[in-house]
This record gives sequence, C-alpha cells and structure tokens, in this order.
Amino acid sequence: MDLPLSPPFALRGRLLTPLDDGGTTYQPDGLLVVDGSGQIAFAGPAGARTGAASEAIDLRPWILLPGMVDLHAHLPQLPNAGLGAGLDLLTWLERYIFPLERDFDAATAERLAPAAWRAFASAGTTTAMVYGAVYEASLDATFRAAEAHGIRAIVGKVMMDRGTYDPTIDPKVILDQSLTESAALIDRWHGADDGRLRYAVTPRFAITCTADLLRESAALAAATGAYWQTHVSEDRGEIAEVARLFPDSIDYVDVYDRAGGLGERTVLAHAVHLSDRELGRLVETGTRVAHCPVSNLFLASGMMPLGRYLDAGLGLGLGSDVAGGPDLSIFTVMRTGFYVQNARRVAGVEEGRILAPLDWLRLGSLGGAQALGLGEVIGSLEAGKDADVIAVDPAFTAPVPGVEDDESADIASRMIFRSHPDMVRAAWVRGRRLEGPGSRG
Ligand SMILES: [Zn+2]
Repeated sequence: MDLPLSPPFALRGRLLTPLDDGGTTYQPDGLLVVDGSGQIAFAGPAGARTGAASEAIDLRPWILLPGMVDLHAHLPQLPNAGLGAGLDLLTWLERYIFPLERDFDAATAERLAPAAWRAFASAGTTTAMVYGAVYEASLDATFRAAEAHGIRAIVGKVMMDRGTYDPTIDPKVILDQSLTESAALIDRWHGADDGRLRYAVTPRFAITCTADLLRESAALAAATGAYWQTHVSEDRGEIAEVARLFPDSIDYVDVYDRAGGLGERTVLAHAVHLSDRELGRLVETGTRVAHCPVSNLFLASGMMPLGRYLDAGLGLGLGSDVAGGPDLSIFTVMRTGFYVQNARRVAGVEEGRILAPLDWLRLGSLGGAQALGLGEVIGSLEAGKDADVIAVDPAFTAPVPGVEDDESADIASRMIFRSHPDMVRAAWVRGRRLEGPGSRG
C-alpha cells in the first residue's frame, strides 16, 4: 500500500478519537484531510465530503487514531528494556542503568538515537518526553536524530550533582557546568522546527540532586520557558532516602516545591505514594504527573491510586518509563494501568473513578497532550490540529482471523488488551510520515 510521505493528503479509514469537548467519536467510514501545512482540515464521516473521500487513500479497515503521547521514558536505557525484573529501584539503577548511561556518549547516541525514535513511532508514539544521559554532546546527537526522524520530542540532559555516574566530572564545578550545558542546549533546541522539538530541564531526582541544583534548574526552566521534569515518590526506599537527605522538607513534594519546581510546565514521573497534602499541592500548582504503571509493577514500586488522583483534579498522562517499563507501547501502559485499578479493587483500596478502555485511550493521547500544554495542537483528530496520526491494523488484535469490531469501546478494548507490537502500521507527525512502523512485518 502506498502511504503518503508528506502533506497534503487525505486518508479514508475507521476514525476513532477523543474530542476536546469530551467524549469520543467513531466513524466506521471516516475521512481525514491533511492540508499542505500538515494540519487537519477535516476529520469526520466520509459521507460529508464525498469528493475528497473518493480521491482519498482508502486504508479501511485500518483504524486512524491520534498519535500516543509518552510523558516519561529514558532514551539511553532502551537497550536494557526488559532486564532486571525483581530488583528495587535503587539497586536496579546501580546495576542496570547507570552503567548504560555512563557509556551513552555522543558516538553511542548517534548510533542508538535514530533507532530509538523509530521504535517509539513503531509503538504508536508520536510525542515523547524523554530523559537523555548527562553528556551535552549526546543530547545534541539525540536532538539531531529527532529532527531528522520527524517525531515530536521533548528531551533533557540529566542533571546530577551527587552520586553521578560520570567519572570525569570535577565535583567542584559540576553544578555550574550542568546548568551551563543545559542552558546551551535550550538555546539550540527549545522550540526548534517551529516547536516540534522542545527542551525539558531534567534534574534526575532528589537523591542525586542538591537543593542548590534543584533550585537553579527550576529557575533556568522558568526563565527560558522550557519544561522541568523529574521523578517523585516512586518507591518506599527512595522516599525514605529523600526524607534523610532533606530533613527540613515536609515531604517529597515539598523538596521540589521549595526549589520552585512545581507548576504547569513541570512533569513529575510516578507519584505513586502521595499524601493528601502532596496531592493537594500538585493540584494547586497545576503540576502534571506521568503515570507509569508498567514500571511501577516491574520494579515493585507500588500501585498508584489513579482514581483518587483524577477525582482530586490532578492533570496526568501516561509514561512507558523505559527501561523501568520493559515496553515502549502506551497501549501496554493502558492495559497494565487497567489491571492495577482492578488489583486495587480486589484489595479493597481503590477509592476513586474506574477508567474504561475509551478513558484509557483518551489518557494516552489527549490527556498526555494536555499535560504538556499542547491540547490545542495535538492529542485528537480534530480540524485545526496538527496531523499527528497513527494507523492501526485491527487484524493484529483479532483473537481469531475474521473477528471484527464495530463499536468504539470494543475497538479500544482490543487495542489495549490484545495490543500487538506490529499493529501500528503507520505514523505521521504534522502529516509527515515517520520511519519505524511497518518495518518488521
Ligand atoms: Zn524514569
């Protein structure tokens, strides 16, 4: 099949998307018209535009969806995805992660990053917010690869001014150097390609960052309009260590609060064990959370009380947390998130709203876009938004050949609970086709 490489084009397919105003729309015979600038000119029933529909490339029975948004992943860790099951967070970091990141120099990044971006796209992710390693040159290589590939990416150099894996750094200059390098990367990449590439100032987490680094990094993000991303409240051992390192703070969230790190351009990964006070502060400040249920089970970190957080009004989306999570697929994250809610129900501890498959689909696309402040640009297939689109072949999710679904909830359910690594057949960002999907099968 000839899939369009660049806009303008029109696709006919089964169209399934959450809507900005709430709810979901499903068109069994849908039409997506992408204009020359890569924006969606029309998304709706083919019958409403018969002229355009007759000239469109007919992908039916493939399903057209908004591209997924991965709010949290570590690009240099991808080679170790699926390794180290059963270890706790801090041991796993020492054994499986820091050695890998230590070797992620510019040459390694040049080799690995293009394949990593293709792997994100193959999983159906068109927007990825990721951590790099600590080396400035490796971040340039990672951004250059994203620039060439076409994915929408938010990337940051990991900042650590204690317990770093970088053996070459002079401890006396580490804070200043990390800030200077981050600022230089912001200059070069934040907002590049008309905002497709953005920068996230990235202190790793409170254990590897002094209060000075946290404060200075938050100030840098605020001054430049870059995002600020870090981890919070992932596992009990980590929380105890943070309490020991920051005895004056009320709790883990307060460590970042005192640094000036909370706010609408901040994405905190995990947030599994928040107290009511911590949850309240995140809601009050508009701070966003990346929910990473696969990683949270893989590392036995805990089961986030998603319903309680949503009921409180917390803004959140989904994250693969590769390599803490073994799989880049946001559909896999939805499935595990659903199972976590069920497990909490069985245990009698789930207090809040239970999400249905279409709610999960929304969280993985529009929810993530809104968490990034990009809800008006991406996250759904609606006229005026950028054409960040994926096409899924439902044959890969059918339990036996010939089984077909024609209800939106059933289609979503199959993609989530029977997701297949090859089911995403194509992906576009701003109407430009991404390499990756379809390359294996
Ligand atoms: Zn992480």
